[in-house]
Amino acid sequence: MWGRCSIRRHVIIGSGAAGISAVETIRQYDSQAEIIILSEEPHGYYSRPGLAYLLTKELNEAQLFPFSNNDFKRLGVRPHQARVTKIIPEQHLLELGDSSCLGYDRLLIATGAGAARINVPGTGLRGVVKLDSLDDARRILSLAGRRREAVVVGGGITALEIVEGLVANGVKVHYFLRGDRYWHNVLDETESRIVECRLEEHGVKIHYNTELGEILEKKGRVGGVSTVDGRKMRCDLVAIAIGVRPRIKLAQDSGLQVDRGILVDEFMRTSAADIFAAGDVAQVYDPFSGKSIVDSLWGPAREQGAAAGLNMVGIEKAYSKPVAFNVTRLAGLTTTIIGKVGHGEDPDLLGIARGDSETWRQLPDSIAAQQDFEVNRLRLMLGAETILGAIVMGDQTLSHPLQSLVAQQVNISSIRAKLLAPGAPLADLIAEFWTQWVRAHVPQYA
Ligand SMILES: Cc1cc2nc3c(=O)[nH]c(=O)nc-3n(C[C@H](O)[C@H](O)[C@H](O)COP(=O)(O)OP(=O)(O)OC[C@H]3O[C@@H](n4cnc5c(N)ncnc54)[C@H](O)[C@@H]3O)c2cc1C
Repeated sequence: MWGRCSIRRHVIIGSGAAGISAVETIRQYDSQAEIIILSEEPHGYYSRPGLAYLLTKELNEAQLFPFSNNDFKRLGVRPHQARVTKIIPEQHLLELGDSSCLGYDRLLIATGAGAARINVPGTGLRGVVKLDSLDDARRILSLAGRRREAVVVGGGITALEIVEGLVANGVKVHYFLRGDRYWHNVLDETESRIVECRLEEHGVKIHYNTELGEILEKKGRVGGVSTVDGRKMRCDLVAIAIGVRPRIKLAQDSGLQVDRGILVDEFMRTSAADIFAAGDVAQVYDPFSGKSIVDSLWGPAREQGAAAGLNMVGIEKAYSKPVAFNVTRLAGLTTTIIGKVGHGEDPDLLGIARGDSETWRQLPDSIAAQQDFEVNRLRLMLGAETILGAIVMGDQTLSHPLQSLVAQQVNISSIRAKLLAPGAPLADLIAEFWTQWVRAHVPQYA
């Protein structure tokens, strides 16, 4: 397919956030290198988080694409649709789906993560959907137009996005939760109930302690479901969102070290020479937890891609994983999740979901301080001297200050006792503390 070339050749597998960010960085520092992007994704580079807004019709498809053809031209690259089937690290060679081979000098694996599969009969029936890609979103929209009732199974952000998308398209939704509340290991009980109430206000029927047993067939497609405890329910669409799995098989089959993701060092290098990994597929050292962790977050995917790109062009720069955060929408309520806020397992998820981080559930000893006002809620997880994590629901005024206070591990001892006093005005205390801290530490405000 391609001849080997004398100039340095960078090959990127995956045209998502991590892959494209790496391309931008490589080109910034090396105008001559040959860069080849290979991706099996037929639609190239688009915003996956934006798919939720496509379902609710708040965005159209064109708005999901951050790059035009001119942007790719400017970078001197053209994504090729191809599936990489094998990496042969010793020969610096790739095998592609059409049986051709391609050599590389430096390789980035940015293959992302795919929806975890549920192990029940009937998943192959027409009318069973997931939400990973633009094609999945189109399928959901086309089915929603003709279906009246759906069952959604799973947890985390993606399950909610599908629920909201279906509701916005006039579908009656039954939402199955295996446990007794939504997103058990990240949200606390009050936050789960806020989300659940908002769903119910929009007509969603939540079935607690309910596990999908089988998807039932009617005329060759979904006709209903049965639950593990023997109940049967009619529906014509079933959506599964029980978490994501980093796509590590390619790396694993090539002998690279993997765990839950592809293991990388601080320079985004895998265990094989000249092969890097970044984004949802990479398992990266997290200085805040001291563990090697997996995220499914757009921002970190771009940052890791940029770090990999720098190291691929020979500029050694360590990647220091920042505190994981996400500003998202839970049942229509803007919510920021920062740092360590929960722990344990979620019965509705296998591992993490989209827009989720393993660090959010690694909470050590801490005390919660919370405040509810109107539709808003603020929860802080307090360690001995710092804020370990926070959830901001509704009013987002404190989202940015809290991201900084958690990330910079700012000592909050001077207000800790006040924060923990019964009925403490948390938002006011944090706002005041932040103003003083900025004045003392940011030169232009001194
Ligand atoms: C519905 C949805 C909602 C989300 N919500 C949020 C959110 O609220 N906040 C947030 O921060 N993040 C969110 N995310 C997650 C975010 O989109 C991902 O973290 C990010 O896209 C990861 O980028 P990536 O480059 O690592 O992988 P991807 O964008 O998944 O790209 C990987 C690419 O590699 C290709 N590929 C895989 N294997 C091969 C192969 N063998 N050969 C060739 N190509 C291959 C795939 O086709 C794909 O195009 C959401 C994602 C989805 C789908």
